Amino acid sequence: MIATLAAAAVAGVSWLYLRPGLRPAGEVASPVAAASNSATVTVSSDTRLLIIAPHPDDEILGAGGLIQKVRSADGSVHVVYLTDGEGYTQGVKAERRHGKILTPADYRAYGREREDEARQAMRELGYTAWSLTFLGFPNGGLHRLMTTYWSDHQKAYRSTYTRLTRPKASEAFIPATEYRGENLTQELAEIIGAFKPTLLVTPRPEDQHVDHCAAWFFVVDALGDVERVHPKFRTDLMTYIIHYNAWPFDHPGNVFPFPDDLDSGVSGWLNVLLTPKQRALKSAALHRYKTQMDVTPWFLDGFARNNEVFSRPAPFRIALPVAQSICDEFIEH
Ligand SMILES: [Zn+2]
Repeated sequence: MIATLAAAAVAGVSWLYLRPGLRPAGEVASPVAAASNSATVTVSSDTRLLIIAPHPDDEILGAGGLIQKVRSADGSVHVVYLTDGEGYTQGVKAERRHGKILTPADYRAYGREREDEARQAMRELGYTAWSLTFLGFPNGGLHRLMTTYWSDHQKAYRSTYTRLTRPKASEAFIPATEYRGENLTQELAEIIGAFKPTLLVTPRPEDQHVDHCAAWFFVVDALGDVERVHPKFRTDLMTYIIHYNAWPFDHPGNVFPFPDDLDSGVSGWLNVLLTPKQRALKSAALHRYKTQMDVTPWFLDGFARNNEVFSRPAPFRIALPVAQSICDEFIEH
């Protein structure tokens, strides 16, 4: 099924956007093997890699090898975590173990644990806390900020987990930031405009976790703002995929397949090969996410392979907000 989002149905979308639809349940993807002669990603000491991670662990799952390659080339890396991953109820229950009903304090504490794990994971790859920015936006709520909770014409979004309506003071990149879409776009635009990445890696819109899907739209919206302020700014925008039907688990083994029913963009699939040492270090970094290893070790271990897969999307513009949510699937993690 191919779902077409008509421009008229989505206020503010300036280009008609064709989104590959979701397959019916039970239908298995037919991935193609990643060929060793595929296009890849070249990095150097001039590389400034900015990774957008909806939750702590996405940066390693999607790009733990690429991060290492940039470090080896003496390039720069910065990771922006949009949420603390604080709303993963199954994970919170596993950590709390007190048998009581979960409270907002439990979810907040879980978010802090995941932040700390992110620091440990990036330290495993040789990076300090200075390379990380936690924005503290609401896990499971980013797509709502694209629509209803866009501006201060509305009350700020309240997290159903933490009951917060704004990031912690330590996470507010711009003072007075609240859970509103325009605030998230503004914070991302500030970060992109200041860091000026040569390579910007972000989730793609087909990712079936709503926060990942929403991340794409916020990044593109922010890029539009950056280009208005810095007309000469250009970055190499690449996407990664984490949640997409059974991919990559329908293709077990050491090599990520290309999800061939997804658009490989203007570049074709980009295949980044990891050395055995890089793969081992990626795995070690993933194991720093103890809260995640406690509940879904198979998922994290399934992303430690000999390669990573990216693509360059075709030029795409969006101006948020949109009248109705474009991201409608929900997977917790
Ligand atoms: Zn995620």
